[in-house]
Amino acid sequence: CSFCFWIIFFQKEKKWFCGGNMSIAITLKKVHKNFKIKREDDKSLFGSLRDSLYLKNCYEKIHALKSIDLEVKKGEILGVIGPNGAGKTTFLQIIAGIMRCTKGKVLTKGSILPIIELGSDINPELTGKENIFLSGVVMGLPRRFIKRKYKELVDFSGLKKFINVKTKNYSSGMRMRLAFSILLLSNPDIILIDEVLGVGDIRFQKKCFEKLKKWSNEKKTIVFVSQDMTSIKKFCDKAIFLNKGSIVGYGNSSMVVKKYLMM
Ligand code: ATP
Repeated sequence: CSFCFWIIFFQKEKKWFCGGNMSIAITLKKVHKNFKIKREDDKSLFGSLRDSLYLKNCYEKIHALKSIDLEVKKGEILGVIGPNGAGKTTFLQIIAGIMRCTKGKVLTKGSILPIIELGSDINPELTGKENIFLSGVVMGLPRRFIKRKYKELVDFSGLKKFINVKTKNYSSGMRMRLAFSILLLSNPDIILIDEVLGVGDIRFQKKCFEKLKKWSNEKKTIVFVSQDMTSIKKFCDKAIFLNKGSIVGYGNSSMVVKKYLMM
């Protein structure tokens, strides 16, 4: 069902055991990802003639990821930084299984929760409460379980006053609060986050980071893409610096951020 697709995408039991090392949650081995994009048309008479005779390759190859080798330990929080177009989203989508790599291998252990387009599946015609229950049902959770978690979710969202209001009347920050709170229904092993926490206010962001830290203490693995270098330094154990599809920095998050800022 598409409603839940971007909120939660469980990859139950995608277990490729990585050389028997149980402490590794994610392994990427020589991962490449290429995209083909159509070249600008040559509109001259000669260009049209050449295209129609197939004398020119009309497609250009984009190397979004190049030979990525990486291991992420269970319970580790890995930051992913780099300039626009460096390959950060592609990297997350490949780990999530939303996209396949062109070459190489991606090995993951356990269920994956990609938080990539947070809030895009909130139904504007339903209230906050109805959205919570619908999402839970779509996730395959029993109604009794959703009822039990409901108060915790609403308290976390801080939306008690608005929970019976249609979400089309929410602000973007409120929608994001609701969407993030709905994720508390899930119990993933790996959480992938793509720059989605920036919409919430400082207090809610703090709550989200505390929740993510708690998940990490429970040995859940977190991969976090952000342009907010303060959060990367404060929150991540390690970081990778991607540039033009390659890892050009890896290690302690403060060191990697320093390298990125000197670029
Ligand atoms: P940003 O910080 O701007 O979000 P990013 O680091 O997340 O960028 P990606 O979105 O992973 O970068 O894109 C990496 C490269 O791959 C870019 O050159 C982009 O144009 C290309 N790319 C990504 N998705 C596609 C696609 N579906 N088709 C063609 N090219 C793509």
